[in-house]
Amino acid sequence: MRENHMQGSRPGPETPPSRTHGKGRTCDLPGCRTTLSVYNPATRCWQHAELIFPAYRGKRLNPKTA
Ligand SMILES: [Zn+2]
Repeated sequence: MRENHMQGSRPGPETPPSRTHGKGRTCDLPGCRTTLSVYNPATRCWQHAELIFPAYRGKRLNPKTA
């Protein structure tokens, strides 16, 4: 009986658990020292990732910018 020949592949040190984007990256914005998550593909922190202001429904928070 030589059925022990097949070697299965099991999770080990050779296979990374998940794809990361580099360790110790910080926000791309000058002055911002927020450390990015290794799972965050963006180059900036969540605050500076995109300059998208949520469209608040109802009254605006700052009427002067309306
Ligand atoms: Zn930032």
